[in-house]
Amino acid sequence: MEKRITGSTGLLGLIGSPVSHSGSPAMYNYSFRELGLDYAYLAFDVPIEEVKHAIQAIKTFHMRGCNVTMPCKTEVVQYMDELSPAAEIIGAVNTIVNEDGKLVGHITDGTGFVDNLKDHGTQVKGKKITIAGGGGAATAVQVQCALDGAGAISIFNRKDAFWGRTLETADKIKAACPACEVAVYDIEDAEKMKEEMAESDIFVNATIVGMKPMENETVVKDSSAFHKDLVVCDVVYNPIETRLLREAKEKGCKCIGGQGMLLWQGVAAFKLYTGMDMPVEGVKKILFGE
Ligand code: NAD
Repeated sequence: MEKRITGSTGLLGLIGSPVSHSGSPAMYNYSFRELGLDYAYLAFDVPIEEVKHAIQAIKTFHMRGCNVTMPCKTEVVQYMDELSPAAEIIGAVNTIVNEDGKLVGHITDGTGFVDNLKDHGTQVKGKKITIAGGGGAATAVQVQCALDGAGAISIFNRKDAFWGRTLETADKIKAACPACEVAVYDIEDAEKMKEEMAESDIFVNATIVGMKPMENETVVKDSSAFHKDLVVCDVVYNPIETRLLREAKEKGCKCIGGQGMLLWQGVAAFKLYTGMDMPVEGVKKILFGE
């Protein structure tokens, strides 16, 4: 590393809190080294109150860009000079690119989800997709699937603090992608969920259900709703195989976990920063030991 860092090495980073568990520094620094790019990537623990100063620092230090994680993804939006179409609809940013002093905010979580599906041989174009969730990850997935040509999206969420946002997202998708049919239902209505799943090609859990410490729970209460033509996806990556995926696999469904979404959102951000493709196979080895 000491041979690689010079007086002209460019800086990229991650802001949010906590960040010490993040796989991003390993993923990006490996890729810079492999591709001979003169950049270094560090993680900075930045609480929400410090976001304004962190954004100023991107400009002051002439950083090429910065990834943003929780809890700062919506907070940074107000400081962007420009937003990508998805970031505009979602109202959140996970990738800031510094274009000669102009900060452009992107969100690559949804792209990461769609590209992970592609990596597993599943396309979203023209498909009917049932998605559980109305929070940050769910919104990104819903908007990107619609932008990438999904035919219909049925959203299920609890009538909790996220319900209003879920309805708003549906309205925004209808306005931006009129060809995509969007409907929102109460997640407690298991019968309706079963009905929507029966007509769907893809089912996605984008809630926190199934994530530790809720690893014994699942959003699909009636496992007879799984059918063999349904691709079942979870954005949860801790544990790697959730109860949802385990039960869907037992019913013969193709299953896709959340780890790949993490990888592919980074691949998309890397392309925005460098214009180059991340060496994905090597990065998979680092992140997943594959
Ligand atoms: P969030 O807090 O923004 O949203 C939480 C969602 O869970 C809401 O829809 C809420 O209504 C729902 N929910 C909470 N408790 C519930 C319950 N008991 N029953 C049903 N629904 C319930 O969270 P988020 O940032 O969207 O994260 C959701 C999951 O996605 C987390 O597990 C997170 O780790 C994961 N995630 C994965 C990736 C990835 O790259 N794979 C990226 C972002 C988030």
